[in-house]
Amino acid sequence: MQRGLYFLYRRQRDPRTVNASRTQPDRLAQVMQGIHQRGWCDGTGGNFSVVQQRYPLRLLMAPSGVDKGEVQADQLIVVDGDGKVVNGEGKASAEAALHLRIVEANNAGAVLHTHSVPGTVLSHHYEDQGGVALEGWEMLKGLRGINTHATSINIPVISNSQSMQELGDAIAPFLPSAPNGFLVAGHGLYSWGETLDESKRHLEILEFLLKVKLTQIQIGDQ
Ligand SMILES: [Zn+2]
Repeated sequence: MQRGLYFLYRRQRDPRTVNASRTQPDRLAQVMQGIHQRGWCDGTGGNFSVVQQRYPLRLLMAPSGVDKGEVQADQLIVVDGDGKVVNGEGKASAEAALHLRIVEANNAGAVLHTHSVPGTVLSHHYEDQGGVALEGWEMLKGLRGINTHATSINIPVISNSQSMQELGDAIAPFLPSAPNGFLVAGHGLYSWGETLDESKRHLEILEFLLKVKLTQIQIGDQ
């Protein structure tokens, strides 16, 4: 094999290069399927977006009402800064407006929104307190900027509404200090990061910590 061809062959077989060369729609579809498999967006629940372009803002996301475990990369839509579909077939989810608020306020590169059992139960349980406090867990270190277990975070909880304007206004004051996520009572978790991969990591960490909290309540370890 010629030397140049050999390196090309090696490059194609290297899993890191394969990962890097995956297109953004492929990667988002793959992430959504993984989240669906974990039971965090049953039915057609949840919504997931990634910033395709910042100026002017373009968000790549699944159309409204589709099964996130089965959606394919070529079924994704692109919405503009007003939540209007500018590419692809289907309607934008009403929740796109909230994704846009988070992207704009926190300069997020992706927003992942789940309807898990712990997120649903705990957001309802702590609605009156306005937040879920988590302290002392090793897994907190998975959140950007945290490098010790000896710390605490408070995931804000806002009341549910079918008005995205109302939800956006309610969470706006908490977005600058939120630990890369917040809860909507009786509904679920919104999480974000600078990139899709970081958003996925933050989502997994927050879902893990919520499951820990729920388990603590269930076994009376409070
Ligand atoms: Zn939702």
